[in-house]
Amino acid sequence: MKHFLIVGAGFSGAVIARELAQAGHRATVIDQRDHVAGNCHSARDEETGVMVHVYGPHIFHTDNERVWQYINRYGEMMPYVNRVKAISQGRVYLLPINLHTINQFFGKTLSPREAKVFLESQADLSIESPQTFEEQALRFVGRELYEAFFKGYTLKQWGVPPSELPASILKRLPVRFNYDDNYFSHRYQGMPRNGYTEIVQAILDHPGIEVRLKTPFEPSMRQDADHVFWTGPLDAWFGFSLGRLGYRTLDFEVIRGEGDLQGTAVINYCDAEVPYTRISEHKHFSPWEQHEKSIAYREYSRSCSERDIPYYPIRLVKDKALLERYVQRARMERGVTFVGRLGTYRYLDMDVTIKEALEVAEAAKAALHEGRTPEAFYVNPLD
Ligand code: FAD
Ligand code: UDP
Repeated sequence: MKHFLIVGAGFSGAVIARELAQAGHRATVIDQRDHVAGNCHSARDEETGVMVHVYGPHIFHTDNERVWQYINRYGEMMPYVNRVKAISQGRVYLLPINLHTINQFFGKTLSPREAKVFLESQADLSIESPQTFEEQALRFVGRELYEAFFKGYTLKQWGVPPSELPASILKRLPVRFNYDDNYFSHRYQGMPRNGYTEIVQAILDHPGIEVRLKTPFEPSMRQDADHVFWTGPLDAWFGFSLGRLGYRTLDFEVIRGEGDLQGTAVINYCDAEVPYTRISEHKHFSPWEQHEKSIAYREYSRSCSERDIPYYPIRLVKDKALLERYVQRARMERGVTFVGRLGTYRYLDMDVTIKEALEVAEAAKAALHEGRTPEAFYVNPLD
């Protein structure tokens, strides 16, 4: 039996702790926050009774059967489909871009086939292999839709023009030639009946796991542990000695009121002149509940300073160069594995986080079984 120190009680840390504890090991999970579940934390707002996504809206979606079964084992998932509205130049549209958006935007009544032909006439076909966000948008939806829905929003979200961002960010969003306005294309989608925190608590509920909240990591804690799993920021492990990896952070302005404030869960504000990116009205994330009062978050994105919570890894060229140096150093460390969104400096959805945590736990168990020490990484953060 080994003793593991797991830094961070988000999905990454919780899943690894559980897998190791079930294999007969002992895990101590620490988190500097006063709650588990990391950025997926949800809590009931005292004033309204609404379940709030404290660090921004989280919708669970996956194609991975194993992950879907895993999350359903620890909590009840309710049917939920994310349907996002977008306001551009004073009008409301549906996102992701679908036949309704195209017809409404251009004042047309195109069929799917006609819309495809029409959008090709809008697209910049001279761009053969789009590298940047802007090129990807101009190539696939054309300048008008790009400027209406992506240019301003992306500038606000990332703080740099879309011409400096990789095409991969836009590839997250589909373009559909039918009236399907489901934001995600995954087979499974849902929302936990009682919030994400209850699920993470259930994952951590095992006699082999001890959870210590409000406990920041101290190097002396390594003494009692055979191995550390680090789900905090990769650069923080090294005391930021090579400099700081770039992140965007978010500020949430709380809006409260009676009844229905905006009539839906998420409205994006695509114009650059509107300072916030979106408004999330939390009670619409739990449509099976009834609440007279309501609470919404107006979301602002900005550059992350030392005192802020890191949300989105930026991964521009200069961040990647620094990342490479940290990864080199990390590979030389012994007794620590870097995992999760912050530990590998990648944008990870919850389902991928859970999948990777399960894989890391399996690989670590196999390594221990063979008398080897687990690796620093089980994915390549530079990919
Ligand atoms: P985290 O949840 O960040 O957990 C890391 C934990 O480590 C934190 O609790 C932190 O306090 C702790 N920690 C760090 N350093 C230390 C230290 N030195 N000492 C002690 N503790 C420490 N995914 C989806 O699938 N669907 C969505 O709709 C979705 N929406 C999102 C919206 C936003 C605004 C953001 C930012 C992310 C969203 N995600 C979404 C992604 C989701 O949040 C991540 O997949 C998930 O949180 C990753 O879990 P993690 O455990 O790796 O990291
Ligand atoms: N995006 C945009 N306008 C929108 C929604 C998204 O320009 O109304 C861009 C933005 O750059 C964002 C990216 O598309 O980062 C991916 O969108 P997604 O909804 O996946 O963003 P996230 O979940 O990361 O907030």
